[in-house]
Amino acid sequence: MQIKKIGVIGGGTMGNGIAHVFAQNGHDVILVDLKDEFLEKALTTIRKNLERQAKKGVIADKDVDETLGKISISTELEALSAADLVIEAATENGEVKKDIFRKLDALLSENAILASNTSSISITELAAVTQRADKFIGMHFFNPVPVMKLVEVIRGLATSDATFSAVMELSKLLGKEPVAVNDYPGFVSNRVLMPMINEAIFCVMEGVATAEAVDAVMKLGMAHPMGPLTLADFIGLDVCLHIMEVLHTQLGDGKYRPCPLLRKMVAAGYLGRKSGKGFYEYGS
Ligand code: NAD
Repeated sequence: MQIKKIGVIGGGTMGNGIAHVFAQNGHDVILVDLKDEFLEKALTTIRKNLERQAKKGVIADKDVDETLGKISISTELEALSAADLVIEAATENGEVKKDIFRKLDALLSENAILASNTSSISITELAAVTQRADKFIGMHFFNPVPVMKLVEVIRGLATSDATFSAVMELSKLLGKEPVAVNDYPGFVSNRVLMPMINEAIFCVMEGVATAEAVDAVMKLGMAHPMGPLTLADFIGLDVCLHIMEVLHTQLGDGKYRPCPLLRKMVAAGYLGRKSGKGFYEYGS
C-alpha cells in the first residue's frame, strides 16, 4: 500500500520532530495533541528547526514554508480518519497509549498501519488492544529526530511481514537508517545504553570516580561523543530510572537493579537539564 497521509499523536519533543521529517519528505501530516497551545508550540519549534536547517544550507529557504504548509493540526483524533499511518508519540504511559490505540483502531481504514514511538512499553502489548496486531509496529526515533539517522523498527509478536517491509521502506525514504529489532524490554537501544548509564552512576556512588572523571574516561577512551552522565542529564534522570525499572521488572535479572543514587537524585527532584540540576548544574 502507498503510505501518503501521516498522523502524528503528541507534539512534544519527539512528535514535532517526527512531523518535521515526514513533512520535509513530502508527506501530508496531521499533528494531534490535547490543547491548541501545545500544537502552536510544536509548530513554532518546527519552524525554528527548519530555519536552522536553511541557515546551514541543509534545505533551501523556500522549503521552510513549503514544509510547514504540509502540516495541519488538530485536537481531535477524528482528524486522522484518512491517515495511512499513525505514529503515536504521546506521553510514556501505557494506559494513555492504549486508550489512543483503541480509538484509532475504530476510526482508521482497515489497511492503515499503527506505530508507537514508545521507549519502553511492549509493542506486542499495545498491539493487543487493537484488532489489527498484524498492522502494528514500533518506530523508535531518536532525539533530535531531524538529525538522528536511526529508527529502531520493532516487530511485535503479530506484526506481519508486509507491515514490517512497508515501514522499513518508508523509513529509508525519510533518509533514515532503520534497524530491525524484536520486541523485548528496552529493545536494543535502551537495553544496552541504560545499564551503561546505571553502571556509571554506581561508579559515582561508590566513589570510583567523580562524574566528570567517569565522563572523561568514556569520551577520551571510548570515543563517545558525550559521557554517560552528561547524556543521562540530557535524557532526564526520571526517564533513565523508569527504563531501568522496566528492564529490572520485565527481565527479572538483578543486573538491571537501578542504582540507589539514581533513585535518590530523582526523589530529590534532580532530574538533569530539565530541572537545572542532575550530575551537573545548568544555568536557567
Ligand atoms: P513529551 O512530554 O515532550 O510530549 C508528549 C506529548 O504528548 C505532549 O505534548 C502531550 O500533551 C501529548 N499527549 C499526551 N497525551 C495525549 C493524548 N491522549 N492525545 C494526544 N496527545 C497527547 O514527550 P516526548 O519526549 O516527546 O516522548 C513521547 C514518546 O516518545 C514517549 O513514548 C517516549 O518514551 C518516546 N521517546 C522519547 C525520546 C526522547 O528522547 N524524549 C526518545 C525516543 C522515544
